[in-house]
Amino acid sequence: LDVVRSVEPRIADAIGAEIEDQRASLKLIASENYASPAVLLAMGNWLSDKYAEGTVGRRFYAGCRNVDTVESIAAEHARELFGAQHAYVQPHSGIDANLVAFWAVLAQRVESPALERAGARQVNDLSEEDWATLRRELGNQRMLGMSLDAGGHLTHGFRPNISGKMFEQRSYGTDPETGLVDYDAVRAAAREFRPLILIAGYSAYPRLINFRIMREIADEVGATLMVDMAHFAGLVAGKVLTGDLDPVPHAQIVTTTTHKSLRGPRGGMVLCDDSLADQVDRGCPMVLGGPLPHVMAAKAVALAEARQPAFQGYAQRVVDNARALAEGLLRRGARLVTGGTDNHLALIDVSGYGLTGRQAEGALLDAGIVTNRNAVPRDPNGAWYTSGIRVGTPALTTRGLDTAGMDEVAELIDTVLSRTTPGTAKNGKASKATYRLEEGVADQVSKRAADLLAKHP
Ligand code: PLP
Repeated sequence: LDVVRSVEPRIADAIGAEIEDQRASLKLIASENYASPAVLLAMGNWLSDKYAEGTVGRRFYAGCRNVDTVESIAAEHARELFGAQHAYVQPHSGIDANLVAFWAVLAQRVESPALERAGARQVNDLSEEDWATLRRELGNQRMLGMSLDAGGHLTHGFRPNISGKMFEQRSYGTDPETGLVDYDAVRAAAREFRPLILIAGYSAYPRLINFRIMREIADEVGATLMVDMAHFAGLVAGKVLTGDLDPVPHAQIVTTTTHKSLRGPRGGMVLCDDSLADQVDRGCPMVLGGPLPHVMAAKAVALAEARQPAFQGYAQRVVDNARALAEGLLRRGARLVTGGTDNHLALIDVSGYGLTGRQAEGALLDAGIVTNRNAVPRDPNGAWYTSGIRVGTPALTTRGLDTAGMDEVAELIDTVLSRTTPGTAKNGKASKATYRLEEGVADQVSKRAADLLAKHP
């Protein structure tokens, strides 16, 4: 930090403060983790200075031999770890990985047949008329994905994201009674809508998905099955999710982030079968800027870590801890969406405490517990205020907390939420944003959280 401080002290201070914050708070954001020093150091070095558009064996720049080594090793680890035919490790984020995947499927399913029909090798060979037709076809495709309030992700065809502007989208939700994915309903929607891409994967669904059934549905309607395993990649890598619960053998294309349960650097990745490999490898410069060689190096290190037997123990503990946290919350009277969890996260319906997600998030943060608010299915408070708090265990499990520690975390969360009341808005009505946390609770809970974390520095 001293080197940074000599140039811009405010940035050095912010970095130092962030390290302190991350040490001192209960990090329960389901999409966060603590990357290892090896991962962080692989990222902070001179590889960052190299340009390497294209991919291994097809670069648009000279002097890429070390980047080739880095990218090849990262891809090899990814293939071996996940049992994938092909891996593409360049995407800069999960959104970018999804964009690469969408365009690979569009290239395979829409562009290639159009080129063939026109007897052209590449798009530049198309006549103006054929090109105009192809562009219309590319813009006229359909995607079926999980609804946002059931736990789906914005990049799965929702209007605020480019995927919603590229595709005509329809979503499947969850069963109103059980809160679970209803495969018959997905099948019915797929039969009626006939999407090009059926997308499975989620950010806030606390249960598991049967990808064999999803593939059967996709095959029946001629859709490509894409799975976005950004959230649960670590559980797949750690062999907690196998068989029908492992997306890689079932989906034609799988995307992920590398920084959540997988515990790598911030970034994304695409795994696919051989039929899509060529299209996926064109991700840069198709939709990605030049690759980040330093981040690919860190991905290689993280994937090597995930291939060690210890990572399987970690992944299992993430799930055991999530269950312990959920059970601890339920025992204290909290309401959970679907009544529990089978993966790394749980979704608390904080309307049971008379709060919005926004109020609960604020009160928890005051007490040193970092979470994020999240919509619950059919949320009456919408996506901004929400009625849910999402909690996840990847980060605290990395720190070494066990199931007993998780029970204490449940106790702290319940203490804060049951001693918080909604504030009053300017118009005298109950506010959805402001809240009042009983005097002394924030200090008392922060102190207990600090004691718990001190055992796991
Ligand atoms: N896909 C899913 C399922 C996610 O949960 C997220 C991140 O929250 C993303 C994609 C996007 O990842 P990134 O923030 O790296 O673009």
